[in-house]
Amino acid sequence: MAKGNKARTIGELKASGYRSVSIREEMRRNLIALIREKKNIFPGIIGFDDTVIPQVENAIISGQDIIFLGERGQAKSRLMRLMVNLLDEETPVVRGCEINDNPLAPICRWCRDRVATQGDATEIAWLPRQERYGEKLATPDITIADLLGDVDPIKVAEGRYLSDELTIHYGLIPRTNRGIFCINELPDLTEKLQVGLFNLMEESDIQIRGYRVRLPLDILLVASANPEDYTSRGRIITPLKDRYGAQIRTHYPVTVEDEITIMEQERRRFSGDDLDCYVPKYMKEIIAELTHFARKSPDINQRSGVSVRVSIANYETIMSNAVRRAVTLGEKLAVPRISDLAYILSSTTGKVELESFEDTREEKLLDDLTKKAVLAVFNRYYQLPRLEEVITQFNSGFSVEVSDTMPARSYVRNVKEIIGLAKVVKGVDDSERPETLASAVEFVLEGLHLNKRLNKSKLEGKIVYRR
Ligand SMILES: [Zn+2]
Repeated sequence: MAKGNKARTIGELKASGYRSVSIREEMRRNLIALIREKKNIFPGIIGFDDTVIPQVENAIISGQDIIFLGERGQAKSRLMRLMVNLLDEETPVVRGCEINDNPLAPICRWCRDRVATQGDATEIAWLPRQERYGEKLATPDITIADLLGDVDPIKVAEGRYLSDELTIHYGLIPRTNRGIFCINELPDLTEKLQVGLFNLMEESDIQIRGYRVRLPLDILLVASANPEDYTSRGRIITPLKDRYGAQIRTHYPVTVEDEITIMEQERRRFSGDDLDCYVPKYMKEIIAELTHFARKSPDINQRSGVSVRVSIANYETIMSNAVRRAVTLGEKLAVPRISDLAYILSSTTGKVELESFEDTREEKLLDDLTKKAVLAVFNRYYQLPRLEEVITQFNSGFSVEVSDTMPARSYVRNVKEIIGLAKVVKGVDDSERPETLASAVEFVLEGLHLNKRLNKSKLEGKIVYRR
């Protein structure tokens, strides 16, 4: 039905030929149409095309409730929110109903009374799909009243009986009737609430303060959980576990390229400053590689995981340090360097949990991971024999000083003095800008140091590379 020409009453809705379907049928129908049209169904989700997404689609085609299992920062929440795109753009509801009742088959007492007296003249409203989504982070202090509902004392005072469903103040789940409701960290829900949730899913009734109210809600329930919590005994009541039709395991980006795509997509952007920032590809690779090494580190708690947010925040941090330098030195282009990596401590440490509790180890661990990442990326770009010409010149007593506060022009001087270095830095980035050159020089020097071809020492805030 065309916009502006939408039915306003139940009578008009019936006359339009509208036929209501359940949410599962609606999502299935829309998903199949999108697949047929070869549309991107989950835009912005990177690296799940062959793993998670086919399973999500199968679950929706099957009409199953879904639980996503995964460590922190695996795009679970985003995936859940994108499922809204599978709903119709607008859906008719009885106007004024607290639980979005279907005008052709209302379930709440208020609507049934209304339709009984007003018939086809009962007014309807059109609900946009964004309003058919609800979510809640499970915490131990959530109550039945929050999630399912409570008896409304004002209505009781008005003289209604407790068993009368008109005395109910509906909770979050009934208010998302005919929509998608997501519970994050399901195992943190109390057992009492898990039972309540199960009754709602299985028996279509809610029990409030001893009263059973039949409420055949039409909701797709989605949940997320950390795999460790979900599988550990006693955290989830078995019948509830059985009730979720699809259990889908999410994962971190498998490749460094996917990690970089997400970093680029998610980093915070600012408009309005005249400063250009350019991040060479090898610097992005180092940030992504570092996270990948962290996900394999036995010193880091892998049950809680290393979120993609670590990569994103570290990426932002090195860019910011480059911006700070450019502004301080009056340079036009901000280009992150190896020496900027010292600053990612602040954007990493709060986001990972160590296996042991010694503060001093955190810095050392990050330093080791950074070295591993730089070495791995460097060795993908360079083979040492190609660098012999440069190394030879250090043999005769040459040394180079670098730091995150040194102007780019001092690096340009190095490139002129060291024979062969110009050619070598061109191998990673062919930009002629001094700021880019400075970054490439540090990359080469650090790579040679990590390959044990140059010594590195710290002196009064500066780093000195020599034989
Ligand atoms: Zn209603």
